[in-house]
Amino acid sequence: MIVSKKDIPNFLDKLIGAYDEVIAPVKKDDFTVFETISSGADAVLDAGNTKLPAKEVFFPQSEELFRYNVTKEGAKLEAPIDDKKKVLFGIRPCDARSVKLLDNDFNNDKYQDPYYLARRENTVIVGIGCNQPASTCFCTSVNSGPFDTSGLDVLLIDTGDAYVVETITEKGKLFVEKAGLAAASDSDRAAAAKVKEEAVVTCQVNLDGLKAKLDVNFYDPIWDKIHEKCLGCGACTYLCPTCHCFDIVDDAVDCNGCRVRNWDSCAFPLFTLHGSGHNPRSSNKERYRNRIMHKFKYFIDNFNEIACVGCGRCIKNCPVNMDIRVVLEDIRGSEARLDS
Ligand code: SF4
Ligand code: SF4
Repeated sequence: MIVSKKDIPNFLDKLIGAYDEVIAPVKKDDFTVFETISSGADAVLDAGNTKLPAKEVFFPQSEELFRYNVTKEGAKLEAPIDDKKKVLFGIRPCDARSVKLLDNDFNNDKYQDPYYLARRENTVIVGIGCNQPASTCFCTSVNSGPFDTSGLDVLLIDTGDAYVVETITEKGKLFVEKAGLAAASDSDRAAAAKVKEEAVVTCQVNLDGLKAKLDVNFYDPIWDKIHEKCLGCGACTYLCPTCHCFDIVDDAVDCNGCRVRNWDSCAFPLFTLHGSGHNPRSSNKERYRNRIMHKFKYFIDNFNEIACVGCGRCIKNCPVNMDIRVVLEDIRGSEARLDS
């Protein structure tokens, strides 16, 4: 299948008519973010990755879990489930992979989150491969790549004047059938294969032996040094597509009685503060160590996956230029101490 770039606004307008919501990158100041669009002309598909990841589509920054109303007759609960039919259009493969990683947390043997699952089931994810990865991208070092299809239903490959369309899942197949796209010719397919071949991720991060090191270096003195520059602002965690810490609060003012889930961050001291006053991660060193351990050890222990997709947002946006690639190299190079 193929869609010409000049037909994309029209194509998106048709999707807007056929689905409850179409979410695509739009321009905001000097960057792009995902927003629900009301016109296909608003989508910006050639500006690289968005400033914020698309995790909010499935796991909103602030979300009402249920409303409660206590009367003489008892408590009445209303739980709003968002089952609107949506298309998430123009996501990059690393971010789509992050959604697949989040599935491990929100849908596993022990826990199934109905809010996340309803959004996930009702959203078609259409990605665009990255012809020119940024200098901060290191997706190929963390089991992904510029044309990784692992979290996608449909992949678009930019061949210049058109996108060649690959269907990945059954959901993607139904989406493409419904869209009624033209068939791609042999030369279109050859052009797409060439684009894939020529895309180069220049930044490689060597992670050999890192997990083995993290398994034994919880008390290594390297942690005393490595966090020193970090301000604990949490920007890296809010912008990271795989970070998913949250807090749950009851709100009796704004909504007259509701329970709300809000993003939180392991970079903040309050995140782990117990009611007793004890804080198991009371210092920035412990919090920064947790961020690295969670992505490169605990997530592997629990789900056999690295919780980083190499998108580079934490590198681009840290106010003090902490670079996770350098941190990982430093840890690999440090002398491992056996925990005692
Ligand atoms: S963005 Fe930088 S300073 Fe802020 S918490 Fe992350 S590593 Fe620390
Ligand atoms: S840790 Fe940094 S590079 Fe890795 S997925 Fe998160 S923001 Fe992207």
